[in-house]
Amino acid sequence: MQVPLLDLKAQYATIKKEVLAAVSEVLESQVCIGGPKVAELEKKVAEISDCKFAVGVSSGTDAILNSLMSLEIKAGDEVITTPFTFFATVGCISRVGAKPVFVDIDPLTYNINPELIESAITKKTKAIMPVHLYGQMADMDPIMSVANKHGLAVIEDAAQSITSTYKGKKAGSIGTVGCFSFFPSKNLGGIGDGGMVVTNDKPLYDRLTFMRNHGSNPKYYHKYVGGNFRLDPIQATALLVKLPYLDEWSQARRKNAAYYDKNFAGSAVKTPYINPDCVSIYNQYVIRVSKRDELMKTLKEKAIGCEIYYPVPMHIQECFNYLGYKKGDFPEAEKAANEVLAIPIYPELSDEMKDYVAESILSFVR
Ligand SMILES: *Cc1c(COP(=O)(O)O)cnc(C)c1O
Repeated sequence: MQVPLLDLKAQYATIKKEVLAAVSEVLESQVCIGGPKVAELEKKVAEISDCKFAVGVSSGTDAILNSLMSLEIKAGDEVITTPFTFFATVGCISRVGAKPVFVDIDPLTYNINPELIESAITKKTKAIMPVHLYGQMADMDPIMSVANKHGLAVIEDAAQSITSTYKGKKAGSIGTVGCFSFFPSKNLGGIGDGGMVVTNDKPLYDRLTFMRNHGSNPKYYHKYVGGNFRLDPIQATALLVKLPYLDEWSQARRKNAAYYDKNFAGSAVKTPYINPDCVSIYNQYVIRVSKRDELMKTLKEKAIGCEIYYPVPMHIQECFNYLGYKKGDFPEAEKAANEVLAIPIYPELSDEMKDYVAESILSFVR
């Protein structure tokens, strides 16, 4: 049996007719930039995120970049974030000229440890960027209270966590802005790159809108130095087809997660810890084992897809050498990087596939 980490063809097979019709409609209209599909998606994503405003952008990365630019975060400023994330979180901070300042993670949730944030704040700190990793939101109450106390913006990197909740509140609705990615492997994935920024702040919404279009308003009158961060209407129309299925797909992922949790209980496989305040959308199901690299090799031999998210924490990435961090600075992030492994969790997994994955892992750890 073969079990890929993710099977986009299986999902596409269920919605192929709808996607083709929707894409064809956009092509016939020849509205190739912006237009009603982008506006409709923005309205719907704002709604499902319990936010007033949404701005479609070209990727999750550009959602973060646009947020930083629209908050006027620049050279000389500092942004506090986690070293255990996808590169884009930290890359964007660096690209606007600001300094990424790391604090270690909570080893249970893999999200930023809120207790460590306040001591990292300096006069230069402008924002905190928590990342809702693997589909589970960071512990937002203590993050918001330290941010409010020091007058800092909060940028939620919710690329992996659209519609995930914390104390009943949606990802992206708690901080100053929330950033989503529609990369095809995310729970709501496009047929190419795409992203969205959500906010409840009207002046910030206006800046986000100008900034994605070279900072112009009106056209050819440039108030800010922005970029081309526009969402493609072909992506918007495909995402509009997929959106009504999102909850059902996330529910299927939670069901698969519960199945693995049950099978791994009492074994040497550490299953994901979900904070009782959170509902995860399981963008990844990440186990933790001591002989991770050997397990990975065994699974690959058995044609079971698996992946390390992420093998090298950001503070020890070569491109961030200039920040002056070294190995050992964030022990929990480094330990997690050596022990985590994502296994197949996608909604279309069959019972036989789940059994095969669980049995293969259990026989390895026994
Ligand atoms: C996917 C992802 C991004 C970037 O999104 P893209 O759409 O690939 O640009 C940013 N942050 C995190 C945590 C992600 O998982």
